[in-house]
Amino acid sequence: MTTDAQTAAPAAETRGFKAEVRELLKLMIHSLYSHREIFLRELISNASDANDKLRFLALSEPALLDDGSELGIWIEADKDKGTVSIRDNGVGMTREEAIAHLGTIAKSGTAEFFGKLTGDAQKDSALIGQFGVGFYSAFIVADRVEVLSRRAGEPASAGVRWESAADGDYTVETIDHAQRGTTIVLHLKDDAKEFADAWRLRTLVRRYSDHIAFPVRMPKEGEATLDTEVVNQAQALWTRPRSDITDEEYQAFYRHITHDSNAPLAWSHNKVEGRREYTSLLYLPANAPFDLWQRDAARGLKLHVRRVFIMDDAEQFLPMYLRFVKGVLDSSDLPLNVSRELLQKDAEVEAMRGALTKRALDLVVRLAKDEPEKYTGFWKEFGQVLKEGVGEDMANRDKLLPLLRFASTHSESDDDNVSLADYVARMKAGQKRIYYVLAESRAAARSSPFIEGLRARGIEVLLLGDRVDPWITGQWHEFDGKQLQDASRGDLGLDELADAPPKAEAKDATPEQQALFERMAAVLGDSIEQVRASDRLTESPACLTRDDNDLSEQMRRMLAAAGRGDLPAGKASLEVNLSHPLLALLPKLGDDDFAALTRLLFDQSRLTEQGQLENPGEFVRRLNQLLVKLATAVV
Ligand code: ADP
Ligand code: MG
Repeated sequence: MTTDAQTAAPAAETRGFKAEVRELLKLMIHSLYSHREIFLRELISNASDANDKLRFLALSEPALLDDGSELGIWIEADKDKGTVSIRDNGVGMTREEAIAHLGTIAKSGTAEFFGKLTGDAQKDSALIGQFGVGFYSAFIVADRVEVLSRRAGEPASAGVRWESAADGDYTVETIDHAQRGTTIVLHLKDDAKEFADAWRLRTLVRRYSDHIAFPVRMPKEGEATLDTEVVNQAQALWTRPRSDITDEEYQAFYRHITHDSNAPLAWSHNKVEGRREYTSLLYLPANAPFDLWQRDAARGLKLHVRRVFIMDDAEQFLPMYLRFVKGVLDSSDLPLNVSRELLQKDAEVEAMRGALTKRALDLVVRLAKDEPEKYTGFWKEFGQVLKEGVGEDMANRDKLLPLLRFASTHSESDDDNVSLADYVARMKAGQKRIYYVLAESRAAARSSPFIEGLRARGIEVLLLGDRVDPWITGQWHEFDGKQLQDASRGDLGLDELADAPPKAEAKDATPEQQALFERMAAVLGDSIEQVRASDRLTESPACLTRDDNDLSEQMRRMLAAAGRGDLPAGKASLEVNLSHPLLALLPKLGDDDFAALTRLLFDQSRLTEQGQLENPGEFVRRLNQLLVKLATAVV
């Protein structure tokens, strides 16, 4: 007997699932109980992916298809044994791949995902659906799952058998397996035996997997032969004429490509012919994915070239601010061996990106116009992302601006429900500018001292509290011929208003006022540019303002967070409200009290502008000293 330890098949081994897989399995089995049938769609989807992958690899290595070039999916049920098997003749898995792919969750963001689970079955099942349960959904209906596989291009002796009863362990074993591709055998749980029924399975295939581009075959109905028949349409959905495709089919296809269990809000399916030929099918999801704000999260379209699947997440066809758009693109012009690197440089791709960007924006425009309620939901989920486009995409700014929604002083609610057109329609006689105020949140913007004067005059102010707002307002300056005006900066232009009080001669400070300003400025020294009278304030005694061209405090902080901590803050001016009692008190104070009160006014202005102070302790000490003085005066 000659045994070669080097080449002998490694014996069966038992391994433990990664902790997060155990957790996911447990959760899934409980929370998806009422949608158990999704296991079939997930396993067919994997089989279809495996076939896609093989076809793609065979482009450069045709020999991979030597043992059969007709790719398909086969489903069989055995009522007596209580089993269902799903087979593909796609790329298959090696032993190592089976261990790597079936024993872990490789997707990035898994940790965040688990952090979001609530323990509430209903909420969790929506989340899990969004995450894409994939292979593990087999365990919703099966108490034992066997996977038999052979990687394309490997010898029959390099087959693998993987098995698990979802009890925390799985076993892998090298076996002889002549058949290329993967067979999944589900040993159904007692209460899931209904799925070992050919009729039931057929119905499910038609409902969920009709659009799969490969034929799904099942034994012929009612015949005891080995003949099979194709039970799905077996035609890539996007290649069919629009008029033939039902909404349900579009929705099922969306689920297939996104793993999102919620129906999409809208879609747009287009065939472009002429010099450049391609078909696109774009979807607007209803809910933001958990990784919307992860820089490295997968985004982009599923790319095909002449029906052949080329890659997932081709991000070159849409700008970053449309990263929530999902869909497929099938090009007739790109070479089959196109790579990510090639896509980045290709002029054709650039042109398609332009056209697809318009297409996606049109979809959003249509939603906003035809279904405002749905659009409100859409804006909640994706508004912050879409807004980035105002800064990024000059060419489409005119399309983007009408899509924006803001919170404003017009309504009590901090929800974004005001469009720029709404604002303009409500502008006061003579008003030439669109006023906004930036703050850390909409609520902070609403109580900002900068807008007191505007509010008192009944002028609406947009309340900007998103982190992209300082950036976009730095890039964008007008809408519909109206200038955008930061309420905290420069001249507000209030004398443009029809009901503006006649320009007071005394707008120039009186000598007494001038003396007060100078005395205050002397106390504050280098921390400010100057002290002047304000027309912004009605309730607060003072605020800090900057000139139109200065870097705003919010912008400076954003840049500092991005590593540009070296930018100077720019000096603000202290504006004071001359009708405030504290300003009337100031001239009457002795030097020490005058300095203390002036510093307090400066610090509180900084606090409302920046939400923080360089030296909070100092501020609190000064404030308390004054309070004590007040107390002694009263008692
Ligand atoms: P996803 O499909 O989103 O990657 P799944 O949980 O459905 O996640 O599958 C996990 C991985 O297992 C797949 O990415 C693939 O590598 C592997 N796999 C699953 N089913 C098959 C199959 N039929 N053929 C080849 N590989 C498969
Ligand atoms: Mg999958």
